[in-house]
Amino acid sequence: MASTKHFVILEVKNIAGTVYFDSDFNQLIRSQDGREEAFADPITQINRQEQLLKSWLTDNKYPPIPITSLVVFSNPTTLIRTSQRNKGIYNRVIHRNYLPTKLFQLEEKFQLDCLTEKELNKVKRQLKRHHLLADHPILDQFDINENDIRKGVHCPHCEYLPIRRGYGYWECLECSYKSKDAHISSLKEGVYLFIHPPQSETTFLIETDPSPNPLMYTYLKHSYRHGELLLIFFLSHKQG
Ligand SMILES: [Zn+2]
Repeated sequence: MASTKHFVILEVKNIAGTVYFDSDFNQLIRSQDGREEAFADPITQINRQEQLLKSWLTDNKYPPIPITSLVVFSNPTTLIRTSQRNKGIYNRVIHRNYLPTKLFQLEEKFQLDCLTEKELNKVKRQLKRHHLLADHPILDQFDINENDIRKGVHCPHCEYLPIRRGYGYWECLECSYKSKDAHISSLKEGVYLFIHPPQSETTFLIETDPSPNPLMYTYLKHSYRHGELLLIFFLSHKQG
């Protein structure tokens, strides 16, 4: 999140159970159902991101601007723990519900404009381009297993998934909405989620069941040019 006054980096974690920040070994230990599991330390992660953003801004000749980085736990039932002497993390690790309050506090704290609106827009544009080509998988970043992602094309109207492919259009069985290009946003999401680093061209299969024609598969193909996503879409018949 960026304003002319300060930047905020949010590292969102979707980890259920009890999490313990172990400052001795720089790891995050999750306990759930009597099992313990170690994760990469989010504090180390946000420190690194903050450092990278700082050098990136300097390299691109932007004036210095305050950067705050936060670890946000998106699951409201996550219990966060750490040792007494690791108090430094208290104001850097928060639950999602507390995020609006935290952002408001930061707005109060940083009143000075460091960038002009023009510079800010330029940063956003550049970062967006940069982000598209990020070389670490977004699923790892959010600790999400690939098998937990529901695949297919979602309904642009009610978000139902998967919608089915009719003859020349997509049809939602939930709300009856019809669309010619519902696959575009699903394809973009698929590329962000599954393809790292972005390949110059990849074809992947989107499940379209229930399909009016059981022999029909939907293939979606994309290609990159100068960091821009180009979309090509076609239907194909099952081989054999
Ligand atoms: Zn729908």
